[in-house]
Amino acid sequence: MTEIRIRNFINGQFVEPLSAQYLDNIEPATGEPYSQVADSDEHDVDAAVAAAEEAFGEWSRVAANERAKLLLRIADLIDRDLEKLARAESIDTGKPITLSRTLDIPRAAANFRFFATAILHVQNEAHVTDNLALNYTLRQPRGIAGLISPWNLPLYLLSWKIAPALACANTIVAKPSELTPMTAFMLCELAHEAGLPPGVLNVVQGTGPRVGAAITAHPKINTISFTGGTVTGRKVAEAGAALFKKISLELGGKNPTIVFADADLNAALSGSVRASFANQGQVCLCGSRLYVERAIYDEFVHGFIDKASKLKQGDPLDESTEQGAIVSKTQLEKIRFYVDLAQREGGNIALGGAAPEPPNARCRDGFFFQPTVITGLPPSCRTNSEEIFGPVVSIMPFESEEEVVSYANDCEYGLSSSIWTQNLNRAHRIAEQIHAGTVWINCWLLRDLRVPFGGMKQSGVGREGGEEALRFFTEAKNVCIAK
Ligand code: NAD
Repeated sequence: MTEIRIRNFINGQFVEPLSAQYLDNIEPATGEPYSQVADSDEHDVDAAVAAAEEAFGEWSRVAANERAKLLLRIADLIDRDLEKLARAESIDTGKPITLSRTLDIPRAAANFRFFATAILHVQNEAHVTDNLALNYTLRQPRGIAGLISPWNLPLYLLSWKIAPALACANTIVAKPSELTPMTAFMLCELAHEAGLPPGVLNVVQGTGPRVGAAITAHPKINTISFTGGTVTGRKVAEAGAALFKKISLELGGKNPTIVFADADLNAALSGSVRASFANQGQVCLCGSRLYVERAIYDEFVHGFIDKASKLKQGDPLDESTEQGAIVSKTQLEKIRFYVDLAQREGGNIALGGAAPEPPNARCRDGFFFQPTVITGLPPSCRTNSEEIFGPVVSIMPFESEEEVVSYANDCEYGLSSSIWTQNLNRAHRIAEQIHAGTVWINCWLLRDLRVPFGGMKQSGVGREGGEEALRFFTEAKNVCIAK
C-alpha cells in the first residue's frame, strides 16, 4: 500500500514535490504507513502561487452562474464517490467509517452546494448621499487565497474554505494537514473531472513549518484562512500581520457543557455523551468541561458513565464502531499526559483512562484510547483549562446560574458551549452571558451553514459561514458618483 503517493496538484496536474521527498502517511488504526505524502517546501508553494496567479485573470471574469455550475458539479461528484471518500477518510483519520459516511463527506458536498447557490443571491448595496452623490459597493475577488486546514475533519473543513473562496472567484493555494492528506488529494481529481480550469485550485501537501509557513509568508497570497491549534494560529497571525494580510483564524476550544436540574435528562445525557466523545473527542466543538447542577449530579454522572461505557470501540472500518482511533501517536501521548495530570491535580478516573484491548489483529499497534470520565477536579486546574483534544471529559457540580457562568467563562478559549435546560428564560439569559461564538441550547453540533461561525478570545478571529465567508473572500470597493 505504501506505493500510493499523494502528490501535489498544481496547475491542473498532479506533480511530484520538487525535492522528490515524501513522508510516510500513517494509518492511525494500525500504526503503520499506508501511503506516502509529498514533503513539499517553499519552492512548490512558489510554483502553486505562479499557477494561481496566472489563472486568476480569467477565473475572476467567469460569470457567477458558471462558477456555481462548476461547484455544483464538484458536489455531485463527491456524492457519487461518497463510499470511496468515506473509506479513505476513515483510513486516513482513524474515525469510524459511519461518521465519515454520514457527516464528514456529505457535509463537504453540502459546503460546495451551499456556496454555489449563495453566490447567485449576493446583493450589492447602494447609498444615496443627499443630493450630492450615489455610492455603490463592488465586492471583488481578492486574488490568491491561502487555505490551511487541520486533521480532525479534513475534507469537511477544507471544503468549507475552498467552496466560498472559489464561489467568490479567487484562486487557491491550499494545504491540508500532513497527517490526513488523502481526501484533499481525491478532491483535486474531482475538481479536475468537474472541469475546474487549471491553476484555480492548487493543493500543496507537506508539513506546517515548510508548506504552511511558506503560504502564510508568501507576498502574493493576500488572504489566509486558517483552522488549527491556537499556538499555530498565533504564528500564522504574526507572519500574516507583517504583510497586512486579511486573516481568518479558527482555533482551539475548551468548551463547556452545562446541564441544569430541569433538563430533559435523557436528551441531556445522549447530547452530552455525543458532545464529549464524537470523533474520539477530536472535534474543536466537543464539550470537554461538563458542569451539572448539584441536585442531579449523582444521577447524571451515573447515567453518563453508563452510556459512555457502552460506546463501541473498534476498527474504524467496522460498520458497528462508534469510537475509532486517535489520529497519531503524538496525539495519543498528549491525551495520556493529560489523564496523568488530571490524577495529579486530584481528579478521579471514573471511566476509562487507558488504552483498550486492540479490537482485532489488524489494529494491534493502533492508537486507541478509552472514553474517559474524570470527576473531582477543581474548576480552574490545567486539565479544565487546556485543550486536550481527545476522548476525555471532566464532570463537575455547580450550585447556581451565576456560579456556572463564571466557571464557563473562566477560560482563555471561547469557541462553543451547550446548555441543557427546559427553562426558556434561563436558556436565553445564560446564552447572552457565555463568552463563546456558538451557544447550543438543548442540542450540540446542529449546524446551519448560513450562521456566522467562529470563536471568541483565543478560539479565533473572524467568522466563517454564509454571508461572513462571502465578505471575507471579497474586497469591498466603494464607487462614488457625483450627481
Ligand atoms: P495544527 O495547528 O497543528 O495544524 C493545523 C494546520 O496548520 C496543519 O495543516 C499544519 O500542517 C499547519 N501548520 C503547522 N505549523 C504551521 C505554521 N508554522 N504555519 C502555517 N501552518 C502551519 O492543528 P491540528 O493539530 O492539525 O488540529 C487540531 C487543532 O485544530 C485543535 O486545536 C482544534 O481545536 C483546532 N480546530 C479548530 C476548529 C475551529 O473551527 N475553530 C476546527 C477544527 C480544529
